[in-house]
Amino acid sequence: MVADNLKKIKNNIPSHVTLVAVSKTKPDNAIAEAYKDGHIDFGENKVQELVEKYEKLPKEIRWHMIGHLQTNKVKYIAPFVYMIHSVDKEKLLKTINKEAKKANRVIPCLLQFHIASEESKYGLSVDEAEDMLSRKAEYPHVVIRGVMGMATFTDDQEKIRSEFRLLKEIYSTLQQKYYSDDKNFSEISMGMSEDYPIALEEGSTIIRVGSAIFGERNYSKK
Ligand SMILES: *Cc1c(COP(=O)(O)O)cnc(C)c1O
Repeated sequence: MVADNLKKIKNNIPSHVTLVAVSKTKPDNAIAEAYKDGHIDFGENKVQELVEKYEKLPKEIRWHMIGHLQTNKVKYIAPFVYMIHSVDKEKLLKTINKEAKKANRVIPCLLQFHIASEESKYGLSVDEAEDMLSRKAEYPHVVIRGVMGMATFTDDQEKIRSEFRLLKEIYSTLQQKYYSDDKNFSEISMGMSEDYPIALEEGSTIIRVGSAIFGERNYSKK
């Protein structure tokens, strides 16, 4: 079933788009089924679960950290994480840089912006992001690959579309100001099970899809 769902989604997205299969709360065997089918990008939102799955599952898997990350937990994932989507504070970026250095790595990161109308503590303002990017040379063990955001959980398609459009605008502004001659800043991580078709129309390059692949999760929190 997991393999069929993956195939359906992959057949409907452009080949340059990365599909991150969000496996949070799902058992190892569901991930293994997708992996056997050739899928290697998986997303988790909790450090402990991410580390446990990393230890048990094939090392070829590319683990994306998509949830809020506390600075004191960065050290557990720095040796292996493929990409961190949720940089929402300069202090976090600084810690990732430090732990990446210890692990002898350069860790790809995305800057998270709060584009939805729901309350959230997480996400940078554009001013904070610009301030941070003016010092990006101080963080040689991270490479900032782009931006990430989540739209409001609503049926209002036009509202969702306008939020994705806002994220794309933030991306373009930062790209022009700080990365005009750097191809690394190229990713826009937006779109989940319910809204990824809209996200793709608005320029998403990474979609993070969970329930449409693995089925509903057994808790009500999104
Ligand atoms: C859970 C989660 C997703 C996937 O959500 P679905 O609606 O199951 O596709 C995507 N992004 C983030 C940050 C998440 O926490």
